[in-house]
Parts: sequence; structure tokens; C-alpha cells
Amino acid sequence: MDIFSKIAAGEIPSYKCAENEEFYAFLDINPLVKGHTLVIPRREVDYIFDMEDDEIARYQVFAKKVAKAIKTAFPCVKVAQVVLGLEVPHAHIHLIPMQSEADVDFKREKLSIPAEDMKAIADKIYAEFVK
Ligand code: 5GP
Repeated sequence: MDIFSKIAAGEIPSYKCAENEEFYAFLDINPLVKGHTLVIPRREVDYIFDMEDDEIARYQVFAKKVAKAIKTAFPCVKVAQVVLGLEVPHAHIHLIPMQSEADVDFKREKLSIPAEDMKAIADKIYAEFVK
């Protein structure tokens, strides 16, 4: 099983932001900004564009709900959606609450946020998601 499948299955801990039976959202462990979230399908699939049309449609609708929760929890200009996937071979959408384009520069230094703060950030997003 790849690392993100293990995270979705609860075998590796993560800071949960949202979930349903098919998809899971959790905080990026090395965030660009506070609230940087990853959205994944629970099933193992590497490349997002290998997903079937109906599955990718449901995935995008789920990501939209997570983005709305992020924006309410952490007010921003917009939530950026980015797909890279060069590091982890399991499809994931990055959702990044953005004040400016600099917030989505993946070459810049990542934040190191203490565990209790990560938990509080994830809980705040989750509370908005389930409202
Ligand atoms: P990408 O594959 O899109 O280039 O980058 C993978 C992203 O996943 C990175 O932003 C990295 O910080 C994040 N990441 C990698 N391993 C883990 C992990 O074990 N837990 C969490 N929460 N995030 C991870």
C-alpha cells in the first residue's frame, strides 16, 4: 500500500480535515501556508487523469466542499487548487488558502507548524466541512 492509502485507512496518522466514503482530506505535513490541505481518493490510483470521468467529477465536487470549508476557516483571497504528484504516487489535489501568488510557490521554504497547532487547524476546517 502506498503512503497516502495508509493515511486514508488510518494506518498512518494524519490531521483530518474532511472525509466521505470515497475521498479523504488532511493537512500537508510540510505546508506552504496555514491550512494547506491534500485531498485524495481512498483507492489507490497514481495519476489523477487515469481516473474515470464520473469518479473525477465526484472527486472535484468533494474538493470544492473542502475548499469552501478552508476559505471559511481561514479567510483568503481564493483557495488555489494545484496538482503535481511528482513526489507521492497517489493522486492528490493541493488546496492552498492564498493571499497572493507567492503562497503557491512550491520552491519556497515550507512551514514547520507544531503538532497542537496542526491539530487545531485541521479541526477548524473539519468543523466547517461538517456544518
Ligand atoms: P507532490 O507529490 O504533489 O509533488 O507533493 C507531495 C506532497 O505531499 C508534499 O507537499 C508533501 O509535503 C506531502 N506529503 C508527503 N508525505 C506526506 C505524509 O506522510 N503526510 C502528509 N500529511 N503529507 C505528506
